[in-house]
Amino acid sequence: MEAKKSKKRALRGLIFVAILVGSLIFTSNILAGPQETIMSPTVTRIVATEPVHQKIVELPSPTMTPMPILVVLTVEASLLRPSDPLLVRIVDKNHPVDWWFVLNIRTSLVNVGEACTRQGMKALIWNTPSKAHEVAVNDLCGLMNASYEAGSRLTLRSAFRDLKDQEEARKQTDFPDRVLLPGESQHHTGLAFDFTSPSVGYQLVSEFNNTPEYKFLVEHGWEFGFVESYVADHDGVIQEPWHWVYLGPELARKYLELKAQGIVKDPFEFQALYPQP
Ligand SMILES: [Zn+2]
Repeated sequence: MEAKKSKKRALRGLIFVAILVGSLIFTSNILAGPQETIMSPTVTRIVATEPVHQKIVELPSPTMTPMPILVVLTVEASLLRPSDPLLVRIVDKNHPVDWWFVLNIRTSLVNVGEACTRQGMKALIWNTPSKAHEVAVNDLCGLMNASYEAGSRLTLRSAFRDLKDQEEARKQTDFPDRVLLPGESQHHTGLAFDFTSPSVGYQLVSEFNNTPEYKFLVEHGWEFGFVESYVADHDGVIQEPWHWVYLGPELARKYLELKAQGIVKDPFEFQALYPQP
């Protein structure tokens, strides 16, 4: 009996120890469990990425709206500084010049025929005296001389006009509505030129764009700083293949570069990229 009792006591002791050890393991598991979950990489990652993820979702169509701003910034950063602000001065219906502006331009005018002769350049000029701004006159002589040497007969028909000349031009035409009002013409700067050729009877007509002289202007005009002004409708003026404006060789090259990229459509839009007075 005594032996049975001591066996039972030993068994109870074993069970007690087993329960104690078991509950110790259980308790340590409970304590260790949550710590492991908090420290686990998955939980940490979710906590870290959640705010970023929310930000991305909240952005309203991020690809479309900022694009024009980016393009303008790129263009402005790469624009050349004009040697003379007059080269990028817009003159049109919305940017007319006054008598004071024209009076100042007059002080910088040069007789084209005399200037070209002095430089030994061959230039065909319809109206003498034709006057141009001194900034453009050397390249103008160079352009006409190069045309002559190449066998084309590019002829200067009209250059600087003052306000009175522009009024006169309106009176002489059958379509006065198509001729700009005094103050609205690029000719007031002394940097705009009308060219023609013998094969169109020295007239200013759209057929000029089928002549070798026009082809010469398109191929080489920019090398001397000249670009066609009215390539698209501007101020209601139809395309004028005879009317070219002087930007100078560097800006002319830059303009054609931006035009080829579709950033500007004509010289007016190019000039608008620069600060205006
Ligand atoms: Zn013109």
